[in-house]
Amino acid sequence: RATAADSSTSNYKGIENLVIIGSGPAGYTAAIYAARANLKPVVFEGYQVGGVPGGQLMTTTEVENFPGFPDGITGPDLMDRMRRQAERWGAELFQEDVEFIDVKKAPFTIKSSDREVKCYSVIVATGATAKRLNLPREEEFWSRGISACAICDGASPLFKGQVLAVVGGGDTATEEALYLTKYGRHIHLLVRKDQLRASKAMQDRVLNNPNITVHFNTETKDVVSNSKGQMSGILIKKFDTGEESVLEVKGLFYGIGHTPNSQILEGQVELDSSGYILVKEGAAKTSVEGVFAAGDVQDHEWRQAITAAGSGCVAALSVERYLTSNN
Ligand code: FAD
Repeated sequence: RATAADSSTSNYKGIENLVIIGSGPAGYTAAIYAARANLKPVVFEGYQVGGVPGGQLMTTTEVENFPGFPDGITGPDLMDRMRRQAERWGAELFQEDVEFIDVKKAPFTIKSSDREVKCYSVIVATGATAKRLNLPREEEFWSRGISACAICDGASPLFKGQVLAVVGGGDTATEEALYLTKYGRHIHLLVRKDQLRASKAMQDRVLNNPNITVHFNTETKDVVSNSKGQMSGILIKKFDTGEESVLEVKGLFYGIGHTPNSQILEGQVELDSSGYILVKEGAAKTSVEGVFAAGDVQDHEWRQAITAAGSGCVAALSVERYLTSNN
């Protein structure tokens, strides 16, 4: 495979038009649009999630809410299709993590373990990682009872009509608990502290909902299974009394937040206090001209495959406009 700096892929003196960092729905969608616009994008796909490209959806089974797939599609199949579509239009893909970027002056420098690329524009689509509790049996039940996304998984037959639990005390957890009341028979909200951190309005909605029981001072210790190996409950411990017990639930949702994968951008573009890249609304533009961001790395609110793909499209079209106006 040619290196990105070869003349076959370079557009001017070995300087690329566009480097895209990330291979989730945002990165591949940006790659499809940029490649179709003849920008010959170079994509650093990364391998942080499970050692493969494709991002967060590589860790899930059925995706039931991506338009165009009325019968659902598996996460890996959806991502493989996006990848092939990007390749078909000529995006050049490198399965490498970007380790360093310098966007202080143009042309920008992007370095992975294997190569250094100079470019006129960058789309950062490095996604976010759902925070985990690291329970002893977490891996065993991930996507088989444990989920980090109520909107994605709440309607699944695994959880419909069941008693469920949500961990966390902030806005994410309270929103997940309220959302799950549409599907679950009853929801237990497990909060480590003796109060909720969510906004007053969300607290009121949760505390006044008869289908939600809030357990304060409660630590979630592990998953408990039945003789068939299915999740049958969770082991919890009360901080104030030290008492341990099993709460019978068929699903456990993590609402303890996400970490945006923006470490390589620190000191380069403006981030908010949680590390999300700040963009101008609707334009994908960061604080640095020529650097754009798409997907979960700049979205702490919606975090869906379709919103990530949509923002990848906006970023690629913005790059096209930016490069044209600077030519
Ligand atoms: P991601 O998918 O997070 O991809 C980011 C990519 O960037 C990764 O490939 C990563 O390896 C790469 N990367 C990171 N750092 C670097 C670096 N330094 N160099 C190079 N590459 C890098 N959404 C739905 O709409 N429907 C669902 O059913 C659904 N189910 C989900 C199930 C699970 C278990 C999870 C965790 C999420 C689910 N989501 C679902 C949410 C959805 O997956 C995300 O909103 C979406 O993947 C975000 O896309 P993205 O492109 O922004 O980032």
